[in-house]
Amino acid sequence: MGAGPPGNPAPTVRRSLHDARETSVNLYEHEAVSTIYKKHRVPHADHVVATEPNDEVARFVREKGGGVVKAMVLVGKRGKAGAVKLVKTEAEAAQAVRDIMAMSVWGEKPVAVMVCEKADIVAELYCAVTYSSETRGPVITLSMEGGMDVEEIDPARIHNFPVGAAAEVEPFEIRNMLVEIGFTKDYGAIVRQASMTIASVYRAFWASEARMLEINPLAVVRRTKTDRKTGKPVEALELMALDAVVTLDDDATVPPQKTFGERSAYKREPTQREVDALLIDRDDHRGKAGSYVEPEDLGGDIAMMTFGGGGSAVTIETSYDVGLRPANFTDIGGNPPAEKMYRISKIILSKPGLKGVLVCGGTASNTRIDVTLGEGLVGALDDLAKEGKLDRDLIWVVRRGGPEVEKGLKLLAECFQRNGIQGRVFDSELPITQAPLILRDLLVEHRGYKPGPQAKAQGA
Ligand code: GDP
Ligand code: MN
Repeated sequence: MGAGPPGNPAPTVRRSLHDARETSVNLYEHEAVSTIYKKHRVPHADHVVATEPNDEVARFVREKGGGVVKAMVLVGKRGKAGAVKLVKTEAEAAQAVRDIMAMSVWGEKPVAVMVCEKADIVAELYCAVTYSSETRGPVITLSMEGGMDVEEIDPARIHNFPVGAAAEVEPFEIRNMLVEIGFTKDYGAIVRQASMTIASVYRAFWASEARMLEINPLAVVRRTKTDRKTGKPVEALELMALDAVVTLDDDATVPPQKTFGERSAYKREPTQREVDALLIDRDDHRGKAGSYVEPEDLGGDIAMMTFGGGGSAVTIETSYDVGLRPANFTDIGGNPPAEKMYRISKIILSKPGLKGVLVCGGTASNTRIDVTLGEGLVGALDDLAKEGKLDRDLIWVVRRGGPEVEKGLKLLAECFQRNGIQGRVFDSELPITQAPLILRDLLVEHRGYKPGPQAKAQGA
């Protein structure tokens, strides 16, 4: 117990954002669509890109009879942030463009919006191509349960198919994958088209020298087409890419910065903590722990350590609702190892001006609670205590469920005890939305905390 720093110690020298991005460049969805999807014929929705409501948007929405307006940001979970809006009319579209451009999506300002033709979605698949360190080659990941965040999908329903390091995967190989994931049970009739589409996705990944290409959802959509023989409209199902998350390799033949310019997820200079956090996920692709951002005004007094897409979104929204002022956000998921948790814990806790800490997430399906909290967070707290840097005035509330939760929360509670940390630890018996409320009430009672103006009535 009280394990020393697992793996690398937290960085002490200032490293530049360029270091953090040395190995990768992320693309905005509109960039990925207009370059990679177009070029490699990955079916995608018709769309226009805009930064304000204009005639082109109005005409598009009128002609298509509606649309979907999406924020162009480099963070994910835009849907949950309210940054993907379905609109029916020109007026609604104009309003959505304005609203989304004014939003901050998990702390990030949109650079533009994409207005897409609305798809009639029948099913949502998850599809990604990336490199596996195990097989040292590309791997195609498929699931019939796309749409939601990948960390929320039952791991038993995520299928990884290693493929040879070659420019092409044959459609028949993909057909076999689609049989294995259960696609052919319901959509056997379009398996040929689906195989060709995924073959195009793979080709796009390879040819664009990407490290990762993730499409969630790769949707089965219903489209009306004109029958070639009869000239009559017929309904047909088709697989279509409705999202694009692309990371290009910096070692690519054409450096991606040349094509896409320097990348920043921040509309300001990133803080040192944001830069340090980016480095956590740079070389180690196991899980995600480095998506740390500080709010635009750099204020706030509650450190937030949140987990798993939906869980993070609900926690953050509820926190604001009850009048807490988050000082930072980190969405952690995908079962990161203890050393990544150790590093991000130290970063999250190093923000000046903190009064409380909220560690909160849903019930994980594959993220180990004993490893992330019981080892990573506990290791960081023990070391901070040893270094004399542990702030014992902070009040903590923890709410978490998932594999090895009992062990993980017990280790954490023991760590609180031996280090004189004040806080309460809950498992998933406690509704997720109660955790921010409990923290607020503890802070009000013991620290004279003044909740923000949006706070709901005491004990709401
Ligand atoms: P993300 O939340 O950042 O991953 O953004 P997405 O672009 O994936 O959009 C979020 C969700 O909005 C998707 O999972 C879909 O369920 C939904 N969505 C996106 N485009 C359409 C569309 O054209 N029609 C419908 N009905 N839903 C859509
Ligand atoms: Mn998506």
